[in-house]
Amino acid sequence: MPSPCSPPRTWAEISLSGLRHNLRVVKARSGQNVMAVVKANAYGHGIEQVASAFAKEGVCYFGVAHVYEARQLAQLNQDVPIYLLSPTMPQERAEVIQAGWTACLSSFEEIEDFERIAQAKHKQATVHLALDTGMGRGGFLPQDLLKAFHQVETSAAFKLEGIGSHLPSADEDPVYTQAQFEQFDTLVESLPRRLQYIHLANSAGLLDYSSRTTNLVRPGLMLYGVSPLPQYQSLLHTTMRLKSVISLIRQVPAGHSISYGRSFTTQEDSQIATVGIGYGDGLPRALSGENLQIDYRGHMIPVIGRITMDQIMCLIPPHLTAQAGDHVEIFGTATSITEIAALSKTIPWEIFTGITPRVLRSYKDEQTLLQ
Ligand SMILES: *Cc1c(COP(=O)(O)O)cnc(C)c1O
Repeated sequence: MPSPCSPPRTWAEISLSGLRHNLRVVKARSGQNVMAVVKANAYGHGIEQVASAFAKEGVCYFGVAHVYEARQLAQLNQDVPIYLLSPTMPQERAEVIQAGWTACLSSFEEIEDFERIAQAKHKQATVHLALDTGMGRGGFLPQDLLKAFHQVETSAAFKLEGIGSHLPSADEDPVYTQAQFEQFDTLVESLPRRLQYIHLANSAGLLDYSSRTTNLVRPGLMLYGVSPLPQYQSLLHTTMRLKSVISLIRQVPAGHSISYGRSFTTQEDSQIATVGIGYGDGLPRALSGENLQIDYRGHMIPVIGRITMDQIMCLIPPHLTAQAGDHVEIFGTATSITEIAALSKTIPWEIFTGITPRVLRSYKDEQTLLQ
């Protein structure tokens, strides 16, 4: 991990065994096939290492956002098929068909264009029908489903492999989500043929709901150790611990201002640690002034003043002696990423995907990560 000649300032310790554990929880809880969602660099964990770990453990599909991520995955030569969760742009469709990636279709224009390109290449496009049951982001509206099904089903240009829809409120609105499951099941049951893959649930959907028709789940967040529904958090193992290093210890007198805007002033002679993390690493600046505390050797020490791009300042209590080079943990053990997200008025998905490329990812295989 930290190289002796130039220690990294911030690193994310990633537990591959934690990822594998969470995948096993998904399988046990859902009893269905799993599309491991590895978009956005596997929620910041590193798509290559995560996809390799999941492929070894056994998944049915990898879900990525779009072709850039599909290309990254394809280079790994895993045997696991790749599903594009977002729409495919016209100029990408030939590549998608050629590579054998699975596209989801939301419109008759897409059906016609994919059909034309597949015919010209003498290839079949593997596709799923996307159905809009309330997300409003993509998919055929329910009244268009049978027509779309028929058009794809009767064309030799397609392998119609599945159908899916998405849940907008599975972690917020159980009444609505229950009705959405019912509507989806009824629509799927109205199709003339049962497709190979039928899918609706994200993490929250698979944790708390059941379906008469689905046989595939699409978890993201819970694979990365965070339950969108707090009552299931204890099932999961932490997969990322964000750590940083004290780069400087200084004594400053009472009445001294700290950081941009001078929002904090010392009350007394103080031992101030400067720590090598900032919003340039993905620590939200919105945490400034929110009483954020970080873990220094089992002690929670307050972050004072505003978060800067590369550094934060912490108040080390007089009874502790800290040194430059000592490690701190921002989230993972004492503080969860869910708590950090709440303090910064956002969601854990955004914190994970906001960890920037300059943060080193360091992979551990142990069940528990001890420093
Ligand atoms: C991102 C995404 C998921 C994964 O959602 P989580 O809430 O992270 O489990 C599932 N399905 C689709 C369509 C997505 O875009």
